[in-house]
Amino acid sequence: MVKDRFAGKVALVTGTTSGIGQATAVRLAGEGALVAFNHLPGLSPDETMQKIVEAGGKGFPVCADVGYPEQVVGMLKETVEKGGRLDYIVSNAGINPKLKWDETTLEMYDRLMDVNLKATWVLCSEGAKQMIKEGHGGSIVTISSISAHVGAYDQTVYCATKAGVLMLSKALALVLGEHGIRVNSILPGSIYTGMSRSHPGTVARKFAEDKSPLGRIGEPEEIASAVSFLLSDDASYITSSELLVDGGMLVNAEFNPDEEV
Ligand code: NAD
Repeated sequence: MVKDRFAGKVALVTGTTSGIGQATAVRLAGEGALVAFNHLPGLSPDETMQKIVEAGGKGFPVCADVGYPEQVVGMLKETVEKGGRLDYIVSNAGINPKLKWDETTLEMYDRLMDVNLKATWVLCSEGAKQMIKEGHGGSIVTISSISAHVGAYDQTVYCATKAGVLMLSKALALVLGEHGIRVNSILPGSIYTGMSRSHPGTVARKFAEDKSPLGRIGEPEEIASAVSFLLSDDASYITSSELLVDGGMLVNAEFNPDEEV
């Protein structure tokens, strides 16, 4: 925690009723940002609000299903109306249903694309226009995944959405630099949230314990601290980057020449 790191700034974070998004909203508020924290219609923002208050921060909920562009635009408008400005965006909301490749319907494909990728495009491009209008620059972090680089069973389309999020972030960094807006992407490995728990048993935890050189699954707060760094001026010369926060999982090719066959 860096106290008052974001004092006077307004941040919009999507998908904050649980997991990485909630930890991020709480972290940024605790560091002085006024946080607009997004929740899906039908899900209560109360728990996140309570945690923000406990962290000594300030924020307000913004309701939207990010899979619908008009709701994303409405959420941005509400953020600026209530917050007075827009400095930071964290595009975090996402879904990862367990879907066998040969049972994935076009409707499922479209929903994954809409929530994970199209929402990131609408949020970041429309948000950037607002930042440019305000004329003070800004910083954007998208939440991709190691699945942007490695395939995963029953996540065929999810992997494609996360690769899309990564490249979208890099391409946006290219065009937004002249406006003082940095765009970076975080690639989490296995993080202990509702999403990873939703897979059978505790596969995600076991997988992380086996694969990560650190021998454990990650916590949402460990992604939130990376988001905070990338948004902050400490990262002032970092844009278009992809930050792996995976406990080293991707470096483990599981080849050990000393192992018995
Ligand atoms: P999570 O399920 O706890 O959180 C996802 C959040 O997004 C929830 O608050 C949910 O309500 C919200 N959400 C889902 N659909 C939405 C919609 N249409 N509109 C608005 N909000 C919506 O899972 P998480 O692990 O915290 O996931 C956060 C992000 O991290 C996702 O983009 C996910 O792909 C990414 N990620 C997670 C892991 C992991 O191991 N947990 C690994 C890599 C990437």
